[in-house]
Amino acid sequence: MFDNLSDRLDSVFKKLKGHGTLTENNIEDGLKQVRLALLEADVNYKVAKNVISDIKARALGQEVMQSLTPGQQVIKIVNEEFTKMMGSTHQELSFAATGATSIMLVGLQGSGKTTTAGKLAHFLRKIGRKPYLVPVDVYRPAAIDQLTKLGKQMDVPVFASTTDMKPLKICQDAKLAARDLGCDTLLIDTAGRLHLDDTLMAELEDIKKGINPAETLLVADAMTGQDAVNIAGEFDKRLDISGFVLTKMDGDARGGAALSIKAVTGKPLKFIGVGEKNTALEPFHPDRMSSRILG
Ligand code: GDP
Repeated sequence: MFDNLSDRLDSVFKKLKGHGTLTENNIEDGLKQVRLALLEADVNYKVAKNVISDIKARALGQEVMQSLTPGQQVIKIVNEEFTKMMGSTHQELSFAATGATSIMLVGLQGSGKTTTAGKLAHFLRKIGRKPYLVPVDVYRPAAIDQLTKLGKQMDVPVFASTTDMKPLKICQDAKLAARDLGCDTLLIDTAGRLHLDDTLMAELEDIKKGINPAETLLVADAMTGQDAVNIAGEFDKRLDISGFVLTKMDGDARGGAALSIKAVTGKPLKFIGVGEKNTALEPFHPDRMSSRILG
């Protein structure tokens, strides 16, 4: 992802070393490199345009400092603007002030929802909470089995959903069962479809209204690039998403989804999935991501 953007910028600006100010002419080459890198990474076109113009506005007219090369100076600005574009600071999970917290996971089939439920259970346990896994995909017994197995492996309790139950009823019963078991955080793994569809959205709206979750997290596959961002927007319109999880960031995803999702939807990316194991989930930090991109 973003091969050598720092190197590219450094060499573009090398000739300015020592003196002078950054002018329209001499930053144009550098901005071209940033623009290229953003488009190569499959960043949303409008987002790329906005961030370039912000970088330009800040870089223009700057004195070239003695202590930094002009390249480093621009890299610092790029770094800060990328961080801002991704939401500036890490957004933590919200929990209910009283009673059990429900975290609803939504997303297309295959996006990594069930795997993420397991990863979040691991994460929650590490921060001292007691997770309870709730499979709600009553249309696919295999999905219920998958989460039940995952829970067993991790020694995290799983609600015994059956395919003849209504999704909302499962969530309501699960809340009571969680209380009996002393669990404080329900991870609700909702049904996914291969494509966006109205029936599914209506069911998810119904569950959301019925259980009033502290978090409604959309899980999307980073490998699908701008499609992930578009899907995020569609889910957000219907369900008022509280944040995103981008999975498969360990693959050869070009990074565009992570870079654009906040700027396009206004909602934060909270976690990234970086592998198939339960431990392969990282809280998303815009500043760290930006530094990683710049190398
Ligand atoms: P669901 O249909 O949305 O519940 O998707 P699953 O949780 O079953 O995941 C679909 C596939 O993606 C599985 O093979 C997972 O192991 C894989 N997967 C999920 N998250 C990640 C990730 O962060 N990295 C990688 N490499 N694979 C992942």
